[in-house]
Amino acid sequence: MHQDIKEVLISEEQIKEKVRELGQRLSEEYKDLNPLCICVLKGAVPFMADLIREMPIKMEMDFMAVSSYGNSTTSSGVVRILKDLDASIEGRHVLIVEDIIDSGLTLSYLVEMLKGRNAASVKIVTLLDKPDRRKVDLSPDYCGFTIPDAFVIGYGLDFAEKYRNLPYIGVLKEEVYQ
Ligand code: 5GP
Ligand code: MG
Ligand code: MG
Repeated sequence: MHQDIKEVLISEEQIKEKVRELGQRLSEEYKDLNPLCICVLKGAVPFMADLIREMPIKMEMDFMAVSSYGNSTTSSGVVRILKDLDASIEGRHVLIVEDIIDSGLTLSYLVEMLKGRNAASVKIVTLLDKPDRRKVDLSPDYCGFTIPDAFVIGYGLDFAEKYRNLPYIGVLKEEVYQ
């Protein structure tokens, strides 16, 4: 285990099993729809990479980078687009792939924006959900794990851009924050 990690919340094996399960479910639901899977950079990169390999159907992918105005631990609800999609999503079945939903502010903004571009459908798959922290009425269409209100890192999730490469989801030791 990494020396900065206090506790492993979700193991590599648990993630693998859940991603396979989600991939199978999504493959059934989207098999004839040629979905456009949109990865929200950077946190969702490992999840997206693993998930699409559990989806042996016709699909495409694209990437988006957004930043929330406000400080690094709480989002304000106003989202700045750092990198937009490469192509039009008009008439497409869009599946947003996210790492975690916290307040829900980022995603609710994104969903409204993408719907405004006349997608045929816009749905969300998130690996993690922290419903206790929600500030807007938003729930994912597909979710890997519901977790308690703790700041987690690993499998794409960072603290100050680090720990994204850990293959599991963990909680940091307090001294790392100081
Ligand atoms: P929301 O708009 O839902 O509050 O913010 C979602 C974003 O905040 C996530 O995509 C992620 O970048 C960040 N975030 C929320 N909770 C956590 C957490 O527990 N750990 C990490 N590393 N990032 C988080
Ligand atoms: Mg994210
Ligand atoms: Mg972050």
